[in-house]
Amino acid sequence: QEQQLNNGVHRRRRRVVLFSLPFQGHLNPTLKLAALLHAHGLAVTVLHTDLNAPARHHPGLAFVPIHETLLPGDPAVSPDSDILAKLLALNAACAAPFRDALASLLLRGGHDDAVACVVVDGQCYAAMRAAGELGVPVLALRTDSAAALGNMLAIPRLRDAGYCLPIKEEKLDEPVRGLEPLRVRDLIRVDGCDADDLCGFVASVAGAVEASVPGIVLNTFDAIEAPELAALRRELSLPAFAVGPLHMLFRRAGAPPPPEQGPHAPDGTCLAWLDARPPRSVLYVSLGSLATVGRGVFEEMAWGLARSGVPFLWVVRPGFVTGAGAGDSEDAPPPLPKGFEEEIKDRGKIVKWAPQREVLAHTAIGAFWTHCGWNSTLESVCEGVPMLVQPCFGDQMVNARYVTHEWGVGMEVGEVIQRERVAVAVKKVMVGEDGAQMRERARRLQMQASDATSSAMDGLVQYIMSL
Ligand code: UDP
Repeated sequence: QEQQLNNGVHRRRRRVVLFSLPFQGHLNPTLKLAALLHAHGLAVTVLHTDLNAPARHHPGLAFVPIHETLLPGDPAVSPDSDILAKLLALNAACAAPFRDALASLLLRGGHDDAVACVVVDGQCYAAMRAAGELGVPVLALRTDSAAALGNMLAIPRLRDAGYCLPIKEEKLDEPVRGLEPLRVRDLIRVDGCDADDLCGFVASVAGAVEASVPGIVLNTFDAIEAPELAALRRELSLPAFAVGPLHMLFRRAGAPPPPEQGPHAPDGTCLAWLDARPPRSVLYVSLGSLATVGRGVFEEMAWGLARSGVPFLWVVRPGFVTGAGAGDSEDAPPPLPKGFEEEIKDRGKIVKWAPQREVLAHTAIGAFWTHCGWNSTLESVCEGVPMLVQPCFGDQMVNARYVTHEWGVGMEVGEVIQRERVAVAVKKVMVGEDGAQMRERARRLQMQASDATSSAMDGLVQYIMSL
């Protein structure tokens, strides 16, 4: 199969194989990258787990399940395991089936569309290693920010300097040398996880990158992370392609985006509800697909929203509340506080899952109360929506620091989630002078995001063709 390029030169079609861990926030950017690479003329196969398998229909993409084995109670699927335990368990479960699936693709591939490289989730060191062993070049796809990757690579050094958990209270506000503007409290952490496990995980990721990777791909862009990207390129001595924001590139590529994967069907009724609201009047509240809160924090969030007097759209997914008061069913959202619905009446709308990108693009949205997952952060930036930040774990602390301090487009809800403070913060971001300034800065960032070109993507495609 030969392709006619614009300049009249003929070249063979090359195939790229992509693989993502089955997290919402990893799978969606991976599928977007897959569709964009296809739109740039490459043949694309997506290897995927059975857990949270993607909807397997998108024009031009081939989907192949790896059929990993996960027994009930495995930390990868247990609601009681933390994110680090899930990452370790998924790496272990995916290693052999990923290797087998890739090996059979390599055997099947003809000369017409030989596999040029695999693009593997940058947290899946097991798949990176397996592809390296099969002699296939590996590009690591980071679905977090350049700053978060810089923090991750620095963890062994930070640990030696005494910055890993448990951290002394008086150290929390110290700046971290080499990772400014991060303070000690902003560093990546998973509460309750073992520091040795975290360091072991990071060492495995860094080892896999150093052993087999000829480049990394990041869903970020220069206008927001130029110094962080430059630092990464120096540290890793590897090409780093900042191809983000991925979801903004489809119009330019003239290709349809793949459908968003989510744990629940998005509830479109919230869009009609927003249609009836004045511009910038509604606060959108969502802590993403993984973060959970205890019943006490849930009640403080609810009553804080009620007290603020501000209209709100709140994503309360099943499993969002853990422990006592979580509710009886795994499929139903937790019960709302007693008297809450009577109090808010039509001022609040609660859904299990929202079409978030459409919500953020809606004129009625005034601000976004977010956990600062990297996808949510980018989506808010791209729509010029200021943020109220409540980071929960992992890289969310890093992203929240950039939102509030570096870009000036958000403020903290408060270290302790407490109803009076919540109400004050909500009013400040929605109707206060601070909120207006954040909105103005957010609008400028939005313009920079929409100016981000697809030139990094063109560079990536050329690089893949050269492998
Ligand atoms: N999302 C959504 N509807 C919701 C909540 C979240 O579509 O009700 C999407 C959101 O647009 C984002 C992703 O889920 O693309 C969440 O990814 P993020 O990195 O922000 O957080 P994570 O879920 O990985 O913690």
